[in-house]
Amino acid sequence: MPALEIVTIGDELLLGLTIDTNGAWLARELGSFGVTVARRASVADTAEEIVDALQSALDRTGAVITTGGLGPTADDLTKPAIAGLFGRPLYFDEKQWEHIRQLWRSRRGTEPPEINKQQVMLPEGCTVLTNRHGTAPGILLEDERGRWVAMLPGVPREMRGIFREELAPIVQSRLGGNAPPIRTLTIRTTGIAESALPERLGDAVRGFPGLSLAYLPGQEGVDLRLTSRHFTPDEADRALRAGADTITSRVGTPVYAEGDTDMAEVVLAALRARGKRLAVAESCTGGLLGARLTAIPGSSDVFLGGIISYANEVKVGLLGVTPESLAQLGAVSEEVARAMAAGARRQTGAEAGIGITGIAGPGGATPTKPVGTVCIAVDIEGEVVAITSMMIGDRAEIRFRAAQAAMDMLRRRLAQT
Ligand code: ATP
Ligand code: MG
Repeated sequence: MPALEIVTIGDELLLGLTIDTNGAWLARELGSFGVTVARRASVADTAEEIVDALQSALDRTGAVITTGGLGPTADDLTKPAIAGLFGRPLYFDEKQWEHIRQLWRSRRGTEPPEINKQQVMLPEGCTVLTNRHGTAPGILLEDERGRWVAMLPGVPREMRGIFREELAPIVQSRLGGNAPPIRTLTIRTTGIAESALPERLGDAVRGFPGLSLAYLPGQEGVDLRLTSRHFTPDEADRALRAGADTITSRVGTPVYAEGDTDMAEVVLAALRARGKRLAVAESCTGGLLGARLTAIPGSSDVFLGGIISYANEVKVGLLGVTPESLAQLGAVSEEVARAMAAGARRQTGAEAGIGITGIAGPGGATPTKPVGTVCIAVDIEGEVVAITSMMIGDRAEIRFRAAQAAMDMLRRRLAQT
């Protein structure tokens, strides 16, 4: 398979202050049209490091994409360093300067600072990759042996734009050819442990002929990703579909979606299909559930709203939780979660209600209720189911897992109606 290397440039990447999403994004895009990324490296903002990484990448694969260090500031050394490596002097490009001036005039109504002239100092004999999303153009350089490097800016939005509009067609014509594309299909599961999945999968546990299977545990659950690397697009689509269907039927109820669909989307669709509206009462999740649901466009037709009942007074005053249950069972109890779910329904007229109360930590644990204890109740037209669950992780993770589990409970209940 044709291959290239990615070199991302910037001290912040090495310090871990910026995560190299550019490298990951490029690798996915390239894979989708059948180009293998043989190696990814991140290097510091020094000419020496940049040249060193480029030199060895060119020796190995002869094809490199870099990101970062194309800006107008002193730490942006990519261009002079690589131009030096290719033995190309820099010249001032009038046409690109005009482009930057127009951009500044239309966006800010002023002339660009002199320092921006740095961005249009281009290596002789380069191909300009037009930047329609910012000022620094991308640059493609090729040597007499046909080895090439494409330099893209570090800002992700600009990098993606130039790649898609300018560089992708060039890479495809040089390296794409007849190589099979990398295609994936993800089956999303929740409410089941990673270690419990192989048993359900049976002989599908190792994937399917021509497909690999990856287990990807995360806060939302365990995603099962099928990857095709050797099939034509049509064969890949068929194989992935068949594989996903087998996995879905074997794993059963824990499967809630495919691709990158969020649980909130699934729950909203299920409510819509059954003509039921939802209201929520949240304590430990503090509105996270409402935020997840309203992040989905069009949720207003089935999601009525929520009450963040953090204080006991609000649980009692707005939701009808009784002071007795708070005193005897505590705010984190199934009884209180039930009353919260019912209260959310009563206050809004919704057919379905969710109540969540728990201990997100780090403080607030009691001998019988450790950090991570979460009680969730789902009330559908007066029929209430409540559970107590132990969520793992830090405060943010416990809150996220609680919201996810609550939606999953509603999803499973609705599937039975
Ligand atoms: P600018 O013209 O803005 O200076 P540049 O090409 O010089 O662009 P950098 O200065 O290296 O790029 O990075 C600009 C910003 O882009 C950084 O602050 C960082 O937020 C982001 N960035 C840089 N490299 C990466 C990367 N590999 N992955 C994700 N984000 C990145
Ligand atoms: Mg910069």
